[in-house]
Amino acid sequence: MTASSHKQFCHPERSEGSPQVVSKPYGIQQTTEILCCHENGGGRTGLQSLCENSFLLSFRGAAGDEESRSAPENIQSEIPRFARNDSLNQVFTQTLQPCHDWQFPLPRLRRASVQILLTSFLLLALAAPLRAIEEPTPPPLKLAYHLVLTHPNLHLVTVEIAAGEVSGEYLDFVMPAWAPGRYAIYDFAKNVQEFEAEGAPGQLLPWTNLDKQTWRVNVRQAGGSVKARYRVFANDLSGSFSQLDSTHANLNGASIFMYVAGHKPDPLTLSVDAPKDWQMISGFSDDTSVRTYHAPNYDRLVDTPIEACAETRLAQFQERGKTFRVAVHSYGEEDIDLSKLREGLQKIVHAEMALMPAPDFEHYTFIFHFAPGISMGDGMEHLNSTEIIIRGTLSVGLTEALETAAHEFFHVWNVKRLRPAALGPFDYTHEVYTPSLWLAEGVTSYVSYLSLLRAGLWTREQFLGRLSDEIRAFEEEPGRTLMSAESSSFHAWFYDRAPQMQETNFANSTISYYNKGALLGMMLDLEIQARTQGAKSLLDVLSRLYHKFYEAPQATYYGPGRGYEERDVLDAVNEIAGSDYTTFFDNYVRGTAPLPYNGELGAAGLALRMSVPAGSPPSIGITGVPENLGVRIFAVRPGGAADRAGLGRDDLLVAVDNQSLATEDFDTRLRAYLPGASVPFTVDRQGRREIISVTLDPPVPSSYVIQDLPGATPQQIATRNHWLGGGK
Ligand SMILES: [Zn+2]
Ligand SMILES: [Zn+2]
Repeated sequence: MTASSHKQFCHPERSEGSPQVVSKPYGIQQTTEILCCHENGGGRTGLQSLCENSFLLSFRGAAGDEESRSAPENIQSEIPRFARNDSLNQVFTQTLQPCHDWQFPLPRLRRASVQILLTSFLLLALAAPLRAIEEPTPPPLKLAYHLVLTHPNLHLVTVEIAAGEVSGEYLDFVMPAWAPGRYAIYDFAKNVQEFEAEGAPGQLLPWTNLDKQTWRVNVRQAGGSVKARYRVFANDLSGSFSQLDSTHANLNGASIFMYVAGHKPDPLTLSVDAPKDWQMISGFSDDTSVRTYHAPNYDRLVDTPIEACAETRLAQFQERGKTFRVAVHSYGEEDIDLSKLREGLQKIVHAEMALMPAPDFEHYTFIFHFAPGISMGDGMEHLNSTEIIIRGTLSVGLTEALETAAHEFFHVWNVKRLRPAALGPFDYTHEVYTPSLWLAEGVTSYVSYLSLLRAGLWTREQFLGRLSDEIRAFEEEPGRTLMSAESSSFHAWFYDRAPQMQETNFANSTISYYNKGALLGMMLDLEIQARTQGAKSLLDVLSRLYHKFYEAPQATYYGPGRGYEERDVLDAVNEIAGSDYTTFFDNYVRGTAPLPYNGELGAAGLALRMSVPAGSPPSIGITGVPENLGVRIFAVRPGGAADRAGLGRDDLLVAVDNQSLATEDFDTRLRAYLPGASVPFTVDRQGRREIISVTLDPPVPSSYVIQDLPGATPQQIATRNHWLGGGK
């Protein structure tokens, strides 16, 4: 997902009440902004804290991005639709709670003796190099993790890590800074409290923090076994964080489990102490009564989210000899009917398993939450499970749930098994970089669209409509001439739900690797099919990569195969297509050349038609946020009418030719003028009123439609039918 929070923006007049949702096209570009003043205690998942009591979210992303899919208000390509019917405002109407006090209490040591030991150990530790022990691999430990989920009202999960066969002087216990699948530094250690370690029962061991996420325990006197114990505050329902409350525990491993530095490869056990009537649901076991698990290594532990809950409803189906479970925890409705969800998922699984080699799991679990009260949905891929969180009820969110599932399930192959070299095994201590998320995420989106078509859940018109939306989203990005797909991927850490504490120019300088990646997937698929007369497609490229890298000899403890490098993608395309795609990659993957949609669509007897709907207002090239007195400029498109006139970010447009913008919609005011007209705008700039003349630009095309090409040749029609085969 790419959710970018573009700007700090505190509005005293909006410091109370419900979040303000504004999404408004002003001639050139749409951005959705969700200004949430005051924290919503239980449902602030994903909100970016930008000042003490307000949040501004500005989402950018494409249809199919898992975050977008689970939160339609995020979908840039769908924003105009929402903006027109005003449903966006309806989406965000939950009552927010008063601000919490933003205090971060210091962890308290539990015993005075520990404080004394700590002081002396700290002095010793300062004399030694303060660096976590990561390499080389020491002899394996006997590791047993234990979770206690019996204190839900305080949202505190107790974690115990027992390590046997301990030798040497120190063990470093490390809390991940991030969780695979979400490229943002969250520093899960900030919710750790009451860390302690003991050797023999009751014998506390001295420890110190090496850095924000590493607890170094002195184990010289431990006698060969150490038990570390800590508590984690967990109250976020999301694909990255965890939540323990009276209804359930939803646990995402990286936010809960420390690892022992140097011992991520060691096998381990996990046991869970939870209320007796809670079912245990995870990729570890398809038996909900089992509460002790085995994991081959730490990475697998954190790649297996756990839902423990008394209310979760379960359904299942079989496909190609494998068991697929559908687990639904719904907050919004009684007596939910899982049949439509299960049937839709089976169609998706059937369609996607037909595209790729059989995956190496016996059972797979879709863990769904339908929660009308949360502020943002989510979707997260795992090796043999997925977490999907829909903001809404099952009956309302069924379509969104299936579309998200189509994306997440294809990650079984693309990113969870066929993976960039940086993404498995993982370095959890800091950012890892890959230029290949356009393939791992964007192409996953594209294939999920194809699968929804092949599964019969989408019509051909819906499929082409979604691709048109993706094209429009990309063409409306000023950043498309500045940032490549590889660069967008590499810099994911800046905007994949990352906290934003300073103003950024992302609205003008970035693109989404989901969005451009989906378009690159479409273009490569069409071109390979055309060049090979339908004998090969993009799916053959993915299968080739899967065989070559995932089915290669195991290179690390992490699991089968090895990761690919970006150049391997080009090699595989060349191999499958039988021609050289270097120029294509130079231009469109690592370059910013305009995407030749019609060249590619033409191969399938299709064409993109862009048009200006009747009644469209002239453009001034801004993204604006409505306020009580007018429209606040959030972004100015370089070279547009507003830019040429000298308007800038934060300017407040209060009138057009003395006609107030407080009493009339901005577009309605602009419709009174023809393109080329010079119109005086009254601008409030830091408290001073100025008149600035703006020469209006023509309206910008906002209708993007992929249509049949008149006079298409039989070959083009054959390619089209091959591509769209299976659709209704
Ligand atoms: Zn749950
Ligand atoms: Zn994804």
